[in-house]
Amino acid sequence: MAFEIHDRYQLFVDGAFVDAADGETRETIDPATGEPIATVAEATATDVDRAVEAAAAAQPEWAATSAAERGRILQRVARSVREHADELAELESRDQGKPVSQAHHDVEGVARFFEYYGGAADKLEGRTAPTGADKLAFTEREPYGVSGQIVPWNFPVNLTARGVAPALAAGNAVVVKAAPTTPLSALRLAELASEAGVPDGALNVLTGGAEPGEALSDHGDVDVLTFTGSVPTGQAVMQSAAETITPVTLELGGKNAAIVTPEADLGSAVFWTSIGIFTNGGQICSAADRAVVHESIYDDFVESVVDRAESYDLGPGVEDPGMGPLNHESHYESVLEYIDVGVNEGATLATGGEAADREGFFVEPTVFTDVEPDMRIAQEEIFGPVLTVIPYGDPAEAVDIANGVEYGLTGGVFSQDVDEALSLARRVDAGTVYVNEWFGGTPETPFGGTKKSGIGREKGLEALDAYLQTKSITVNLDDPTA
Ligand code: NAD
Repeated sequence: MAFEIHDRYQLFVDGAFVDAADGETRETIDPATGEPIATVAEATATDVDRAVEAAAAAQPEWAATSAAERGRILQRVARSVREHADELAELESRDQGKPVSQAHHDVEGVARFFEYYGGAADKLEGRTAPTGADKLAFTEREPYGVSGQIVPWNFPVNLTARGVAPALAAGNAVVVKAAPTTPLSALRLAELASEAGVPDGALNVLTGGAEPGEALSDHGDVDVLTFTGSVPTGQAVMQSAAETITPVTLELGGKNAAIVTPEADLGSAVFWTSIGIFTNGGQICSAADRAVVHESIYDDFVESVVDRAESYDLGPGVEDPGMGPLNHESHYESVLEYIDVGVNEGATLATGGEAADREGFFVEPTVFTDVEPDMRIAQEEIFGPVLTVIPYGDPAEAVDIANGVEYGLTGGVFSQDVDEALSLARRVDAGTVYVNEWFGGTPETPFGGTKKSGIGREKGLEALDAYLQTKSITVNLDDPTA
């Protein structure tokens, strides 16, 4: 490695690394070995208070900094991230488990978020309203103040940047609560951002588990919340936010369907579905969890997708295998439990289904056939490398199956017939639909869910709406005495 992983990591508060108030720590574990990587400070509610106070103190000056200058600073963060891309990617790969080439892709995304929202900072304009000759009415877009952001462990640095960059561009100060099993990359990002000119207190990163997460979502001085994670935690965050009437963006789970029609290029559909479910070991909210395949091509699809699943080599992320380990032990156990559930429900294991015979939290790429749409493995988010393949007869049935879950994050349609592809894409109830590809989103494309997949949109210019509130100013031009 081109850099050293430290033995000990602290919280990043008000521009400096500090211990947790009560000195508590936890270990972050290498998922490829089950061995500790480093000791990390465990934030408490007191640390949340400190970080929110620092953010609240820094925010007015940050908001008063010219939008052009805020944008320039974010562009410098983007450059610094690119200069440190190898380090950030290796750190992420080690801590999270993903293949280092995938971590590189995530880190390039981090740079793009800062570049994109840095470019947007001086274009956040209001409008005038046509209220007639006697009045001038215009709007301004103002930051909320302190943005609290709670991040999961599947794309630690990328999702941190996804929320932090637009929040800072809009003039907010941010307190991030990183996930307990993947704290390292967000801490390094905060340090790089600080070196690039983000003022002390404008970006704070806390590490730890549910306690600081709860304290952040309960906090009376947090003005807007962004949560990415599971549905139950999202519900808890939303309940806390209701107490303080704090707006909240929720990016939650998915159980996304790839519809493969007889008009699909089968090789391409198999390629993208495999990418969609086996990238990052399937630990992706937008993964291709379910392939909904026309019965006329079902057997051919299964044969090819099984070949692909069996072609993945497993290994530590830093060695850049096809697939790395799952992120932590309890999640690895949960994925293996779901595989048992599928077998007990009567689905057929076409390939995989076992823990790999090695240390660490590895699960084989797994494909289930003979899956009924109402089975738990076809309804619940497994968040692992487990594809369920479901047959359909006519297009209406495909749409019913695709939409017959409580989630609506992403979906996909594979068809070379443009009418069919677009008509199906419109009928899929999801925030994002991919046509003849998977994971087609970029920083420019809005992302978020329908139904239990969440509220609001991240990415794209839409994300800025979550970090800005509109003020109307009206001016009387009429002389009432005349
Ligand atoms: P999680 O809900 O367990 O944890 C998410 C974050 O919330 C972590 O930082 C955790 O420490 C914190 N947290 C835990 N309890 C809390 C509480 N009571 N109050 C406040 N914060 C609390 O989710 P996870 O297991 O880390 O991530 C996996 C889930 O995230 C999956 O469901 C996945 O689909 C979803 N996800 C969604 C998106 C998206 O953009 N829609 C992206 C990535 C992951």
